[in-house]
Amino acid sequence: MGLNRQHAAEIISHSFIGRGYYRLVLRAPDAARSALPGQFVMLRVSQYLDPFLARPLGIYSIPSKSSIEIVYRVAGRGTSLLTQMEPGSSLAMLGPLGRGFPAVEPGATPVLVAGGSGFPPLHFFASRLRRGGLSTPLFIGARDRAGLPPQPVLASFRKYGAKISMATEDGSAGVKCMVTSILDDYLSKSGHAASSVLYACGPRAMLAVVSRVARDRSIRCFVSMEERMACGVGACMGCSVRSGTGGFKRICTEGPVFEAGELDWSS
Ligand SMILES: Cc1cc2nc3c(=O)[nH]c(=O)nc-3n(C[C@H](O)[C@H](O)[C@H](O)COP(=O)(O)OP(=O)(O)OC[C@H]3O[C@@H](n4cnc5c(N)ncnc54)[C@H](O)[C@@H]3O)c2cc1C
Repeated sequence: MGLNRQHAAEIISHSFIGRGYYRLVLRAPDAARSALPGQFVMLRVSQYLDPFLARPLGIYSIPSKSSIEIVYRVAGRGTSLLTQMEPGSSLAMLGPLGRGFPAVEPGATPVLVAGGSGFPPLHFFASRLRRGGLSTPLFIGARDRAGLPPQPVLASFRKYGAKISMATEDGSAGVKCMVTSILDDYLSKSGHAASSVLYACGPRAMLAVVSRVARDRSIRCFVSMEERMACGVGACMGCSVRSGTGGFKRICTEGPVFEAGELDWSS
């Protein structure tokens, strides 16, 4: 099965897991075999032609040799329609697509940073780090407690050995500040600051600050971008962002993971 051809993926399970999130497990043996952390799928959210455009969703985990797991937040019409799809029915899926996180180089200390609904690709990444014997600090930020990942997600990150620190803007959970403040604080105090490599996913404003923290400390930083996307295969240019050297980069094909310095963060 060509992964760049739309194909049917049967829903194995689909359930609400709290804080506005759903967990969706799809039968997708080819994707399960080949997916890399940071890659995504384009999913048609209903069996009808409306809405016409598929929605991009990151891969949260590979629960078995023949399935992939997605965790999504209800954001608008498409994801709201998706919640109504029952196990046993099938969704048209394309992927895995895009460029994922690069492998961690020997001696590097990975540090994960998730904002809002940006945790799914980092969860998949954390599971692979664990397989490689690494446990990693994870900084999670949200506006308030309700915006944090649901408990099953936090529990799963902990199972993979992630040491979680949280920040909320209103102080309703974790430290009252931006997540980038607790990240910066950690880097100042940690004995591993020089070997740290940041892996971040979340709102663009947060990614801009994370990339600045990395630049100021001369450490590497990879960001996974979640801009709006239409085709997912590089044809429509709808997801283009400004590159650091002039011109544009398409998130769907050249990303969604970029080394932070590849992008222009000024706009
Ligand atoms: C590569 C990639 C991976 C993603 N992975 C996940 C994931 O694992 N889990 C998850 O919950 N979401 C993920 N998203 C975001 C998800 O695609 C959007 O939330 C979804 O497409 C919204 O569709 P909708 O029809 O429900 O909302 P719409 O009606 O299209 O929009 C509703 C609201 O959501 C905002 N929105 C729409 N698309 C995006 C977007 N791409 N990023 C941020 N805000 C958006 C709109 O501005 C609007 O305010 C990912 C996006 C990308 C590009």
